[in-house]
Amino acid sequence: MKSFRKELWFQTPHRRDYINITHEVEQALKESGIREGLCLVNAMHITASVYINDAEPGLIADYDEWLEQLAPHEPITRYRHNNTGEDNGDAHLKRQIMGREVVIAVTNGKLDFGPWEQIHYAEFDGRRKKRVLVKIIGE
Ligand code: ZN
Repeated sequence: MKSFRKELWFQTPHRRDYINITHEVEQALKESGIREGLCLVNAMHITASVYINDAEPGLIADYDEWLEQLAPHEPITRYRHNNTGEDNGDAHLKRQIMGREVVIAVTNGKLDFGPWEQIHYAEFDGRRKKRVLVKIIGE
């Protein structure tokens, strides 16, 4: 069995950003040379997510609005976590909803997606360097 590891680094311009990373993961799969197996992609930070869904911009705006309704950034005093001196209590909750990782089957050297599936990095406490792990195992 072969295994391949790669980190993707991000520094988003805004506190919250949604980035389609499908191409980067496909690139990692190409570099791995693996044709049959599994591809794990996970955020390496507890205030960011990796999820799979449509890349349609309206949907991404809907996610952002929905998450902000569920866990508004402000007032930052509403989160006990922020008593530590941080201001990212909302970002931890948003990350929990959108998830930590995705696993994609690798078939015949390609990511074996369903219709419209795209991999996204969702940042909830950005403007600093953060990373995503890609781990691919198989033959
Ligand atoms: Zn925190």
